[in-house]
Amino acid sequence: MKQTQNQHSRIKRFYHSLILSGCREEHDEDTRRKIVVINLFAIVGMSITLVLGINAVLTRDDILGIVLLVSSAMFGLCKGILLHSKLQHSHVIAPAMLVTCLMFLMLYLVAQGGVAGTGPLWIFVLPPVAMFFSGIRYGVLFVGLFMAFCILILFYPDDALLGVNYSHEFRVRLLLSFATVTFLSAFYEHSRQTSFTIIRDISEKFERQALFDALTQLLNRRGIQKLITHETNRAQRQKEPLSVVLCDIDRFKQVNDNYGHDGGDIVLEHVARLFESAIRKQDAVARWGGEEFLFVLPTTDETNATILAEKIRQHLANTPVNVGDTSLTVTASFGVAELQLSSGLDQALSLADKALYLAKEKGRNKVVSASSLGTMAEV
Ligand code: GH3
Ligand code: MG
Ligand code: MG
Repeated sequence: MKQTQNQHSRIKRFYHSLILSGCREEHDEDTRRKIVVINLFAIVGMSITLVLGINAVLTRDDILGIVLLVSSAMFGLCKGILLHSKLQHSHVIAPAMLVTCLMFLMLYLVAQGGVAGTGPLWIFVLPPVAMFFSGIRYGVLFVGLFMAFCILILFYPDDALLGVNYSHEFRVRLLLSFATVTFLSAFYEHSRQTSFTIIRDISEKFERQALFDALTQLLNRRGIQKLITHETNRAQRQKEPLSVVLCDIDRFKQVNDNYGHDGGDIVLEHVARLFESAIRKQDAVARWGGEEFLFVLPTTDETNATILAEKIRQHLANTPVNVGDTSLTVTASFGVAELQLSSGLDQALSLADKALYLAKEKGRNKVVSASSLGTMAEV
């Protein structure tokens, strides 16, 4: 059992170094995909040029053999650069090297013809690779430069730059078909990038919808829970206090009854904007449910959280909102609790809820802290 597990992790490590080397956490999905293809291309390129290079040396085509073996080494070097985890821009350097190396190899094959004049067949690899690795702009620049060199080599007076004899028709058709593949590759890369951007935008929109409330644009319950987990871990790590404040608008049902659901929504938006502007930079406020809001206050103990809640309560009570022709004063009740490392977040929320309930019982438009629960409940 353990042996199989070891084998699995060895295979995983091998796969990682083969295909995923160079991928980092900060890279986005598209960059990761590019790195995987660069890895694959470097391995395939290295293997093919190595085999063809050895074959050329064995058939005594020494120069072709050396060119192919040097190319193979260069592809290997690109793979090595990706493997070198400390190199910051390895995912930019490696493809630039790959494309440059490929370009020189192709120019040599066009000029010298490779094996029995078949060298130019390989140049069609260049456009898709250059577009994918360098993006459309640099890809077109690269391939354009390559075509300019090809034209120079193929049509130089007296074939002075050619080591092989191509017919005029072959040269013209080679360039035309190469231009066609270049155009199609650029178009394909453009579509790929557009689809990627659309998918990314949609997924960002869905992610936002999942975490934010549509009416108030505040974080929703799910959104704040994610943030609370993060802040709770930080508070526990750094041994800093963290407080939560539950807030519920007073007699909100009456607002709906008197001014309709739309009037109620205007009040909710007003309260949300006011809360947002009243908190400090490090704090967060969310719509916890219907007309309930939750404040998360990092590095704040219960005393200071109560002071802040009292300030917000007064600010709300002194800031009326216009609903139609009426200027309406809205109040809210607040329950404050500090997170205790021993009992956790749910306990803090439950205490804040109890304190809020007491604030309602005591006549509303009040702030009650959890530590005063025992004493006040008895009053
Ligand atoms: P209390 O002071 O005890 O909190 O009284 P209340 O009327 O605020 O409390 P209650 O829980 O009875 O009423 C809450 C109301 O909030 C009922 C519900 O219809 C309304 N509500 C919840 N969500 C929305 C919303 O998105 N828009 C509007 N307009 N009303 C909402
Ligand atoms: Mg309520
Ligand atoms: Mg209410």
